[in-house]
Amino acid sequence: MKYADIVHRCFRCGYCKFTGDYTDFNCPAYRKFRFETYSPGGRMWLIRGWLNGEIKNSERFQEILFSCATCANCVEHCVFTFSEDLVNIFIAAREELVAEGLIPPQVRDYLKAIHVNGNPYKLPAAERGKWAAETPVEPYRDQEYLFYVGCVGSYDERAVKMARAVGTLLMKAGLSIGILGEKETCDGNEVRAMGESGLFEQLAEQNIRTFHDMGVKKIITLDPHAYNAFKNDYPPLGGEFEVFHYTQILAPVIGGRRILLKECPLTVTYHDPCYLGRHNKEYEAPRSILKAIPGLELTEMERNSENAFCCGGGGGNFFTDILGKGEESPARLRVREALDTGAGVIAVACPQCAKMLEDAVKSEGLEDRLKVMDIAEIVTGCLS
Ligand code: SF4
Ligand code: SF4
Repeated sequence: MKYADIVHRCFRCGYCKFTGDYTDFNCPAYRKFRFETYSPGGRMWLIRGWLNGEIKNSERFQEILFSCATCANCVEHCVFTFSEDLVNIFIAAREELVAEGLIPPQVRDYLKAIHVNGNPYKLPAAERGKWAAETPVEPYRDQEYLFYVGCVGSYDERAVKMARAVGTLLMKAGLSIGILGEKETCDGNEVRAMGESGLFEQLAEQNIRTFHDMGVKKIITLDPHAYNAFKNDYPPLGGEFEVFHYTQILAPVIGGRRILLKECPLTVTYHDPCYLGRHNKEYEAPRSILKAIPGLELTEMERNSENAFCCGGGGGNFFTDILGKGEESPARLRVREALDTGAGVIAVACPQCAKMLEDAVKSEGLEDRLKVMDIAEIVTGCLS
């Protein structure tokens, strides 16, 4: 296994499962199950025991390895030099399980759906661009930017609304964007996180080929997961593009008053998506958009920015649900934390967070008190 030579360096001191000030547990898997093996350090020792032949690849072992949301809280908070490889170590262990063919059935189903259909919803590629039908967004020809929407934004009912809001707002801002529609396929970020590196490379190569054939140089993504893959994992495979998350494009547009906004007396708290925040250190662009809206009050949750608590959807859990639901699910805990700020809106910048948190608001029975809105949806509601 890759990284086998550094797994033994974990002291199991446990700092990695906390926030930076150690006041709360911040590893979503540990917070949900409360067993040490679900924590980052416990996971390291479990992998070590497995590599040493002391632990077998059981269903329980698989479940623990795949419950990691790859949220990178441990990367941020482990005090040792190998910390930046923690998520990579967990992914490397998953790669071994995938190679053995011994993985949870939900993971197998997800990977098979991507392999066969190019999306986890088992829907035809021809339906990918359907969301854009009632918007001004057009197919990509030679526009300045490719607007890459991804599987969730293309097919999920909640996320489609977000794709429409972002696409329409980018057009309103005068940006030259186009979509690939049926030529788009899965970006592979979760495939990679689930340890199917071969399938990830196939997807990446297919996307890179399409982008090159179409003459794409600049990409705006809806989803921080796609942003992460294009920015960090495509370049070594020959895919060098200028990549932006849509909030990074909208921030100067709104800040420069290229779109006129009216007074919007909302109290909003912002939920950092792990793949925009901790994985790519972008904390400011989404906040600067919210701060530029006249009358809007931005109030922070106790855990924010590099200490933000994951909604539980990362690392493929959005699709496999291995972290599971219930009152102590990460998304429901996060919604209660948002409610404590007094905000009436949870602002999100990721279609997976949007769905996870909106479902959690319903499960908590808080629909009358809290709305989950994507940043583009908030801006659209504040256009003058
Ligand atoms: S991963 Fe780092 S912080 Fe966590 S238990 Fe191991 S050494 Fe300690
Ligand atoms: S990446 Fe997140 S979920 Fe996975 S072990 Fe680290 S803190 Fe826990």
